Amino acid sequence: MKTDAMNSTETTQDIQALLRAASRSLTRAGIPDSRREVETMLAHVMGLTRLDLYRADALVLDSDQQTVFNGLIRRRADREPLQYILGAQEFWGLEFRVTPETLIPRPETELLIEAVLEHFGKPETPITLADLCTGTGCLAVAFATLYPTARLFATDLSSAALGVARFNASRHGVDGRIKFLEGDLMEPLAKPNGDGFKIRPHSVDLVLSNPPYIPTDELSTLQPEVRLHEPRLALDGGPDGLDYYRRILPRALDFLRPGGGLFLEVGIGQATPVSAMARQAGWRVDRIKKDLGNIDRVVVLTKP
Ligand code: GLN
Repeated sequence: MKTDAMNSTETTQDIQALLRAASRSLTRAGIPDSRREVETMLAHVMGLTRLDLYRADALVLDSDQQTVFNGLIRRRADREPLQYILGAQEFWGLEFRVTPETLIPRPETELLIEAVLEHFGKPETPITLADLCTGTGCLAVAFATLYPTARLFATDLSSAALGVARFNASRHGVDGRIKFLEGDLMEPLAKPNGDGFKIRPHSVDLVLSNPPYIPTDELSTLQPEVRLHEPRLALDGGPDGLDYYRRILPRALDFLRPGGGLFLEVGIGQATPVSAMARQAGWRVDRIKKDLGNIDRVVVLTKP
């Protein structure tokens, strides 16, 4: 026999109780902003915005939705990042798909875009830009929208990440201008790919990268969301965190035109050693840009 409970729907009042209980369980799991997060997840399940939860005087949550919601709360209580649960993160005002194969775009990476705009402005002529370790493709896609005539190349070691990046490019209508290539840093640019295409040396205007830069030993000290759920490949920068810079610095010189720029995101305490390595490799260090936490975050280099 069907019981009332089986057919039951949660009403606005019950929903408040449900939100309180879910919020308490996330707080117990060590999540600071739990109320906002549970509201976001509930809105996601109901196909509403968070604001709609306040606006509607009568909300009804059916039992299927409640099961889905409970599942999301359990995942979040396991410290899975909210962005993986929702499958989305905003970056530079654009929405990006994120999956556990991709690093979640961070707000400080937007500084790299600001640094390029401050330095290069909006070029009149079509430029060529390469984004190394593209992940979700957030930098390449943002630049494709900012520079509508640019040709862009984006590389990554992870074919799964490139799949996500391609999706993001097509979602924002710029897939026709970004060539996504699988491989290590600039290596795929040097060899002819599927279309027999190859980048000429000393022809690229801009190279960008937010490479993995966490020192290997520090990975275990990161918050659980990062440590347990984000791809290690996108985080581990080797014993001192500088492995990728060591390889990018000499190689990018072969691709950039004289006067071309290399913009690197760096981790805490890395701007000084990266600048020193860059000078030694033959770069001019133009600028170091701080993030909102006053941490040196972006190193701007020019090829003399
Ligand atoms: N900014 C990321 C973090 O602190 C690391 C990203 C990276 O290694 N490029 O978790």
